[in-house]
Amino acid sequence: MTDRVLVLNCGSSSVKYRLYDGESVVDSGTVERVGEPGGGPADHAAAVRDILGRLDLTGLSAVGHRVVHGGRRFSAPVRIDDAVFAAIGELVPLAPLHNPANLAGIEVTRELLPDVGQVAVFDTAFHHTLPEAAATYAIDLDTARRHDIRRYGFHGTSHAYVSQRTAELLDRPYDRLRTISLHLGNGASACAVDGGRSVATSMGMSPLEGLVMGTRSGDLDPTVIFHLRREGGLTVDEIDDLLNHRSGLLGLTGANDMREVLSRRADGDAAATLAFDVYCRRITGYVGAYHALLGGADAVTFTAGVGEHSPEVRAAALAGLDRLGIAVDPDRNVGAGDRVISPAGAQVSVCVVGTDEEREIARETRAVLADGD
Ligand code: ADP
Repeated sequence: MTDRVLVLNCGSSSVKYRLYDGESVVDSGTVERVGEPGGGPADHAAAVRDILGRLDLTGLSAVGHRVVHGGRRFSAPVRIDDAVFAAIGELVPLAPLHNPANLAGIEVTRELLPDVGQVAVFDTAFHHTLPEAAATYAIDLDTARRHDIRRYGFHGTSHAYVSQRTAELLDRPYDRLRTISLHLGNGASACAVDGGRSVATSMGMSPLEGLVMGTRSGDLDPTVIFHLRREGGLTVDEIDDLLNHRSGLLGLTGANDMREVLSRRADGDAAATLAFDVYCRRITGYVGAYHALLGGADAVTFTAGVGEHSPEVRAAALAGLDRLGIAVDPDRNVGAGDRVISPAGAQVSVCVVGTDEEREIARETRAVLADGD
């Protein structure tokens, strides 16, 4: 009896897929440039159709879909039926850049594999435990309620996995560990996890808030938007595009890839040096804030592309936090694999953990379908 699970992750311009047989990955890939002129598939539906046509899906028992926004409604992964599909559609206004792609993938998969169980795993779900004080923006309450304006948080699958893995690595009980999880990929976010519960996170109503990212600005004064509209003459869509797709490392240096920024910085490039400093300083501030909110952290864990692979960023982001008991050992910092990189006997354990959102989605997908039987 095979136990194959397909994980589909429809991003804004790409579709990533992984086919698991038990714990092993038997096929995987990424279709890029979806919907872009000159090349890739016309849209997400075409890309998914193409992937499903190519894969050997014998013995497939489930499909797990990453869905970015679950709003207030979804606090856990769910089996997709017509009502769930419609509800994800209703959340499109909250996530216009993300949920439509997720929905397109689900629609095609349901059409082509009507007898296979499908599960939606939400990026927001892990943050359902955020205290009201963390989720509430200080604006007029009625306006906020009417428009569903609050902090939802994202990267939940990764923060959940990484904080559990940190507890394993440190051989400490997860329900007693206070971890600051730093997911530094193309998108980036910080999360304070107290005994397995997300209690603070840097992304907000959308993935735009918080840390500096590959192409997103992260935190800024909202007046920047009014100013660009009123004085700069930009349309709202142009400002949305500027802050989501042309800011962050890309806006500061012309390159969204941290490897490129690091190499230019090593050559003494002033813009790359400034971008690196802005990027790391933002992380330092969040680590300090979350240390305070947790009443002291036990662990700080780095994950995703930059977090796992850049000793420079890890060292700079935590520099000067010795008074909080947070430090990085230079020798351990340059190693590889899941590990502790703080000096022996440090008050706070600094860790590096490889995140694996797809594996976690496959695991949660199996769990949901097993529960329902
Ligand atoms: P995504 O967020 O798209 O899932 P990743 O978590 O793989 O992506 O992160 C991608 C980013 O990680 C790249 O854009 C790059 O900036 C960064 N990265 C990957 N490898 C390295 C490295 N060796 N050093 C520094 N940054 C790296």
